[in-house]
Amino acid sequence: LHPIYAEMPVTIFEHMSGLARDLGAINLGQGFPDGPPPAELLRALTRAAMEQSHQYPPMAGLPELRRAVAGFYARIQGLDLAPESVVVTSGATEAIASAILAVVAPGDEVLLFAPAYDAYAPLVRRAGGKPVFVALKPPVWAFDAATIAGAITPRTRVIVLNDPLNPTGTVASPADLALLAGLCVAHDLFAICDEVWENVRFDGRAHASLLAQPGMARRSVKIGSAGKIFGATGWKVGWIVGAPEVAAVVGRAHQFLTFTTPPMLQWAVAEALDDPAIAPGCHAQWSVTRERLIAGLKQQGFCVLDNVATWFTCIDLHASGIALDDRTFSERAVREAGVASIPISALWEGEGRPDHIVRLCHCKNAAMIDEAVDRLGRWR
Ligand code: GLN
Repeated sequence: LHPIYAEMPVTIFEHMSGLARDLGAINLGQGFPDGPPPAELLRALTRAAMEQSHQYPPMAGLPELRRAVAGFYARIQGLDLAPESVVVTSGATEAIASAILAVVAPGDEVLLFAPAYDAYAPLVRRAGGKPVFVALKPPVWAFDAATIAGAITPRTRVIVLNDPLNPTGTVASPADLALLAGLCVAHDLFAICDEVWENVRFDGRAHASLLAQPGMARRSVKIGSAGKIFGATGWKVGWIVGAPEVAAVVGRAHQFLTFTTPPMLQWAVAEALDDPAIAPGCHAQWSVTRERLIAGLKQQGFCVLDNVATWFTCIDLHASGIALDDRTFSERAVREAGVASIPISALWEGEGRPDHIVRLCHCKNAAMIDEAVDRLGRWR
């Protein structure tokens, strides 16, 4: 058994969801909406299931979905992508794996920003690379030019940027993107841009892709997710976009991971992405639930960190007057208060790990949010 996996615990998301299931707790841990995705998407799925082929679709994705993804990004981000720039994957996690396998060679150093989504480092290691963590500092999670430049060595080949950032719900500024693109060009680095939260934004906050920065078109890929856009996480439909010659190479990694993605799901997502009434997504409803969770938490005396994107709201335990570390808080809150959460330290390797910040998922119905806030308030 490979030690990378033999010595690895199950993910914090699976761990907390398992506890929530076993204990009947309200699950504000793993990120997923409590309701169904848009009815139009489900109708498109039903039509596709009855009328389209159930056999292997093309390896890089249905032409209809590749075209729809390219059209979607042209519409919402002004990107000029050919359908050949798109590789459809079975979820963004597979896209992350395909991208890392396609670009990381043994001995390569890969810059990861902490907090980091938990799939990155193990995949980099399994590809023979070395993750090098650059800590972002709470509460604003800013990118610091000197710290990043100091982490770059002659072996650095790749950076992984998650923007908007899970778990903090923050978005890189234009200056951050210019800084990162400048470093990539100056040091000849490739960027894997995990932008699955690109459409889950609030308060009118803009988002631009690192891939669109000067000099980045041929040295980056961008990862997107239908699950996040439409609130259908179990569908596991994602994609990677990049210059056609880059996408072709990433596709070779993808062909030996999942090879294809269920065609009826691809048809339905293609139809929904093409329809401006459904895409760019469901964030309007989540804007309301986010505000409800934030207001409720504040009323119960919790210190809430600023967020403008994602399904997540973080609380600062110390500033809330709670003397527990984040893991202890999450482990006890699910058992004693009946509310599951995610301790940020589980998404952090390397220096500067905070142990006092907990992530809560806000894309839930009002009654669930109110009950969770009540329980946490009574228990704290
Ligand atoms: N992206 C989800 C989250 O952050 C987790 C997905 C998973 O569990 N694989 O909650």
